[in-house]
Amino acid sequence: MPPVPPPLRRLLPALAAATTLVLAAAACGSGANGGTSAAEDVVVTSFYPIQFATQQITGGAVPVSVLTKPGAEPHDLELSPQDIGGMTKARLVVYADGFQPAVDEAVGLVDPAKVLDVADAAKLTLTLAEESGHAGETDPQHDDHGHSGSDPHFWLDPSRYAAVAEAISARLVKDDPQHAATYTKNTAVFVEKLSELDDEMRRGLEQCRTKQLVTSHAAFGYLAARYGLQQHGITGVSPEAEPSASALKAVADLVSSSGVTTIYQETLVEPHFAQTVAGSTGAKVATLDPIEGITSASVGRDYFEVMRSNLVALRDGQGCS
Ligand SMILES: [Zn+2]
Repeated sequence: MPPVPPPLRRLLPALAAATTLVLAAAACGSGANGGTSAAEDVVVTSFYPIQFATQQITGGAVPVSVLTKPGAEPHDLELSPQDIGGMTKARLVVYADGFQPAVDEAVGLVDPAKVLDVADAAKLTLTLAEESGHAGETDPQHDDHGHSGSDPHFWLDPSRYAAVAEAISARLVKDDPQHAATYTKNTAVFVEKLSELDDEMRRGLEQCRTKQLVTSHAAFGYLAARYGLQQHGITGVSPEAEPSASALKAVADLVSSSGVTTIYQETLVEPHFAQTVAGSTGAKVATLDPIEGITSASVGRDYFEVMRSNLVALRDGQGCS
């Protein structure tokens, strides 16, 4: 196959999502504020996990919008002028620096007093080299998504996600003392739910036949680190990056030598790399959802449901008792 230029290569898997996005935008004629509320009242969030946490905390007290529409690939998000206009008028913009280059750039146009970057609260301690294991993803050509050295997928570790929720809550309380009691109470409930999930994940992944976690998109580094697994990403942090032949062989060798029975693909990404490795090793393919957005293809209706579906898939695939 002739090499496809990177922008097109990234576009192809996102085509269906992009079509939906265009239709949705045409239908409602609005950008980031997504509807009828005055833009000034809106908290604009960058992508699903930050949107979900903010909604859980505000409980409807203020409107929350999201820049990454459901089904859109968040790493490669492109913003419309309306999106950027909505950001500059928002009461607060919440994002994680280093995940979405378009958002990082647009935040530069927003009054810094109305921006909250949760990257610090998320403690992004894993680097790309660590999270991608030995699959060869340190090649700089695979790092064209602006991750700038840190693994951004903090929300797949409920304890990191809880720390981010606390940071969002503290900021909302400070900016909007009128609703402080609501925010504080809702945050306590949300953090408690995350803590219960964390306990379930720890218990469920304690006794597993294999600790090697082979995934297509290397989004599960913090989850693996939290629960004693070792992630090996086939395509690295960017879902559409093409792994080299030697990287595929290295993963296949690991699968064969370490008794890995299951390779995980992502919900929305074409699975042929996972299936290539599975086909050459006899492993089966299962789905792990990185929860970068919720669509009808997701294995649950919100973060908690999808995480619990992921736990079921992991317990089966890793042979946990
Ligand atoms: Zn990702």
